Amino acid sequence: MIVVFDLDDTLYPESAYALSALAAAGRFAQAEFGWDAFAAKLTELFARGGRRELFQVAARDLGLNPPTEQQLAALLSAYREHRPTSLPWYPDALEVVRTLHAQRPLALISDGYLPAQQYKAEALGLAQWIPNPIFTEALGREHWKPSPRAFELLMSRHPGQDFVYVADNPGKDFIAPRSLGWKTIRVRRLEGIYAQATDAPRGSPDQVISSLQGLPAIL
Ligand SMILES: [Mg+2]
Repeated sequence: MIVVFDLDDTLYPESAYALSALAAAGRFAQAEFGWDAFAAKLTELFARGGRRELFQVAARDLGLNPPTEQQLAALLSAYREHRPTSLPWYPDALEVVRTLHAQRPLALISDGYLPAQQYKAEALGLAQWIPNPIFTEALGREHWKPSPRAFELLMSRHPGQDFVYVADNPGKDFIAPRSLGWKTIRVRRLEGIYAQATDAPRGSPDQVISSLQGLPAIL
């Protein structure tokens, strides 16, 4: 059975990437617009749970003029195009990927903007364990999950094999693999952003585990 992982919040905490990207947007704002306290404010908002319109909220909190459309677009580019030097794996994820890598083929299917997903993979050193990750964005924005395209592509690379998809978001991750006959496993970490999310119709995983440590035993 080929084990296929999701990336964000399955193998590493996406919040680590977000903090690194917000810092990059903050540095950009300081250099380009002279907004000195912007980076610190973004970090503070994120730490307090802020996830929406952070650039606008930070500007407002600092008493700046509302960012223009152009400034917002530039900040978003600084965020998405920044290149993290390193990202932390979840310890259980690294352990299980190392263990399984020695035993069987591993693969990865991930949504998200490019090149950000590629930069994340580089920062994690993913290639030594999973050399040919599939980023759905490369197939076209319409093929982000729950599109089956990426899953079908992987099946065409490994004809006759069985697959299991390991991911964290029950709202979109398991619809396509289930429809194609894959086994599906949700990792539901206590602090995960989708820990409280409910299953999509026809998108319930076969099993739920709280850490990837338990994965080898149920394969
Ligand atoms: Mg995910």
